[in-house]
Amino acid sequence: MLKITNLVKRYGNGEPVLKDLDLMIEGESVVSIIGSSGAGKSTLLRCINRLVEPTSGSIELNGNELTKLKGRQLRAARRKIGMVFQGFNLVDRLTVMENVQSGRLGYISTWAAVTRSYPKEDIRRAFELMERVGIAHYANKRADELSGGERQRVGVVRALMQNPEILLADEPTASLDPKTSEQIMELLRNLAAELKLPVLINIHNVTEAKIYTDRIVGMRYGRIIFDDKPDALDKEA
Ligand code: ADP
Ligand code: ADP
Repeated sequence: MLKITNLVKRYGNGEPVLKDLDLMIEGESVVSIIGSSGAGKSTLLRCINRLVEPTSGSIELNGNELTKLKGRQLRAARRKIGMVFQGFNLVDRLTVMENVQSGRLGYISTWAAVTRSYPKEDIRRAFELMERVGIAHYANKRADELSGGERQRVGVVRALMQNPEILLADEPTASLDPKTSEQIMELLRNLAAELKLPVLINIHNVTEAKIYTDRIVGMRYGRIIFDDKPDALDKEA
């Protein structure tokens, strides 16, 4: 369970971009966050994995308070939070397998990456997930030889390698064409159900949010102004 209470974020001395935000996610649902540009969607996701420091408030993941962690504890907590990015964030010159393993290690310049020798269990797990998302045959290809949709599948596998307790996706389809976007959204939805994994997606495309997610959270100027099932959005409009 993810439980966010009274979350405030201000950058520098500016107006807060998250204003006393409360959000609770229970169970294995796919939740989308929608709202116009500047609403604070991305800041919210970044506060959860602490790419951004919250100004105040609480973020609990399965009972663990995330906002006060430092150092080793913070790194351990981050491993439980899978992250998928708009721009994929792959290392182009590394292979698919190397990219996928880099998520597990937390960073790429390790002895394992240099020698390309990973624990057997990690290789097995990587192939299982790559198989699941349809990229196993690309394991030894360089990341920059793949299409956008394939690259995002690599991003998804990398996020799942660490057996996260929640998956955060920041505009995961924004760099993809409509057909590929649908495939990735469908993949995320199916993985959430199969792995019993809550997924929180910051998404621009309201139609995709309606089709592929169980719950829509609407943000405006740092506040949640809508939080309901997708079909309730039609009644609102
Ligand atoms: P948009 O429609 O893209 O959100 P706006 O013109 O509404 O654009 O806002 C531009 C920027 O100013 C946004 O980044 C938004 O966060 C910020 N902003 C506008 N009004 C407010 C407000 N009342 N409180 C906080 N931030 C605001
Ligand atoms: P969204 O994802 O909904 O477009 P963001 O979380 O990216 O919204 O941005 C919310 C507000 O915070 C915007 O007004 C944006 O300009 C501001 N903002 C985002 N990141 C930073 C930053 N690193 N420094 C200062 N202001 C920022």
